Amino acid sequence: MKLAMIGFGQAGGKIVDRFLDYDDRTNSGIVRAAIAVNSAKADLMGLENIPQENRVLIGQARVKGHGVGADNELGAEVAEEDIDEVQNAIDAIPTHEVDAFLVVAGMGGGTGSGGAPVLAKHLKRIYTIPVYGLGVLPGTDEGGIYTLNAARSFQTFVREVDNLLVFDNDSWRQTGESVEGGYDQINEEIVRRFGILFGAGEVGDGQEVAESVVDSSEIINTLSGGGVSTVGFASEEVDLNTSGGLLSRFTGDDGGNDNLDAANTTNRITSLVRKAALGRLTLPCEIEGTERALLVLSGPSEYLNRKGIERGRKWLEEETGSMEVRGGDFPRQEPEVAAAILLSGVTNVPRIKRLQQVAIEAQDNIDDIQQESEENLESLVEDDEDELEPLF
Ligand code: GDP
Repeated sequence: MKLAMIGFGQAGGKIVDRFLDYDDRTNSGIVRAAIAVNSAKADLMGLENIPQENRVLIGQARVKGHGVGADNELGAEVAEEDIDEVQNAIDAIPTHEVDAFLVVAGMGGGTGSGGAPVLAKHLKRIYTIPVYGLGVLPGTDEGGIYTLNAARSFQTFVREVDNLLVFDNDSWRQTGESVEGGYDQINEEIVRRFGILFGAGEVGDGQEVAESVVDSSEIINTLSGGGVSTVGFASEEVDLNTSGGLLSRFTGDDGGNDNLDAANTTNRITSLVRKAALGRLTLPCEIEGTERALLVLSGPSEYLNRKGIERGRKWLEEETGSMEVRGGDFPRQEPEVAAAILLSGVTNVPRIKRLQQVAIEAQDNIDDIQQESEENLESLVEDDEDELEPLF
């Protein structure tokens, strides 16, 4: 699937930048165009792979290239005011070669949190291709204002996109890591998971065509209907033997037992599917009640088989209760077999409910503090007996 990716704010820009790197490394061909939008000049300069002409600085008149802080209302305002600048960059990309837009942003900050939903709304008004969001939730240790920003951005972003794919920093943070080092690993995890998913069906030069391919329309159909999505992933290392020598690995010779071979392949696939669905999701949630799902099995073609995928698919149908579970393979000459599962239209997500609770508390606290500080200032400035008069 070919995407036009637009990273909004620092996290968004860095993640899209990393997607370009992933695309290069794996030759997956998913990033047809990459744009970064920010109100902070320094953040745009820190990017490595996004072409200079695709880095758009917004809000210069208001914040002079210094960013909006964590003020996402200001982020939304400057995005609205400078949407033409963003559109100019989009005009330069061949949108007729693109299957969908992906707007990427951290939802806890200011520029991306406020700007990404504004851009999504704008794109949906102009283009007929789907507009997806990839929204990153802040860690719970980031504090009330980030939580409040994320909760408000989440509500708006979901409403404005065709589907919001969510990644929760909180369930992926590593203890003892520096913040930057931690984000590096987290961003790699993001591009790997979403890369395999969106890479399915994109056959590059010299790659094999899958037996039962996942094509872009299946990804689009799984995401259609809107709502919130999460992705599960599990992988296992395997030997890469380009002569298709799996048989010799299990049987010791080339004329070995076909059945054992197929059974092993099938079992590996079904076990990977279970691990992917029941392991750590990009957004932790209950998978029961998921509306639609897509299973992508990637790896060397000799390690993939239709029966395994079929079994994995059936198992997913039972676990989710969904009647719309698609599946297919994505042959790649990588020394691993991986299962990526897109769970679309999840609704039982305790993490979001907790986020909203904390956001409401933060909002109340902020209101209280503001009121208190107004009162405190007044009592400082006014003399007790009201004997003094201001000048004007
Ligand atoms: P903005 O530039 O004003 O949009 O704000 P940032 O993107 O800097 O930060 C918004 C939120 O994104 C933060 O609260 C973090 O939770 C998260 N974040 C920042 N940088 C990264 C990153 O590189 N990767 C990930 N996964 N999250 C990030």
